[in-house]
Amino acid sequence: MNFPSGEILKLTIKELLIPSERVAHVQIGNNLEHALLVLTKSGYTAIPVLDPSYKLHGLISTPIIMDSILGLERIEFEQLEKKRVEEVMKKSIPRVKQSDPFPNCLDLLVNHPFLCVETEDGFFAGILPRSTVLNQINTRIKRLKVN
Ligand code: AMP
Repeated sequence: MNFPSGEILKLTIKELLIPSERVAHVQIGNNLEHALLVLTKSGYTAIPVLDPSYKLHGLISTPIIMDSILGLERIEFEQLEKKRVEEVMKKSIPRVKQSDPFPNCLDLLVNHPFLCVETEDGFFAGILPRSTVLNQINTRIKRLKVN
């Protein structure tokens, strides 16, 4: 039996994404201490930065935060409370629309562990992790082995 590549290509981003209400995130205006707390508690190394209207502004990660409080001689932990996420977040991030063709994601997922997905009118819809796509492919490969 052949690998069902057609089946994979028919998948839509919308049906695979983790919806926004299940995505750990921080808001513009939050300080780095809060962001580090959310990152540590969630166990993720990078999470989206949103505004109160759920527009996506960037990504914040533990390495970015640690780098931003690294002084010449020591880690300046007191900066965590003073600095805001928007001062240090990564603003240039790959974004896809939930209606984009699924294959568009594959190129981007080679270099990114997850993609931020937006609705047609530019609101944050959720994320598409690389692991979700690999799971889809893996399930179909296992099915091939059984048949
Ligand atoms: P995974 O493939 O599930 O390990 O996810 C890859 C990356 O996507 C994680 O390291 C996080 O940065 C991000 N991620 C996955 N799920 C979530 C979530 N529910 N909330 C926020 N970020 C997530």
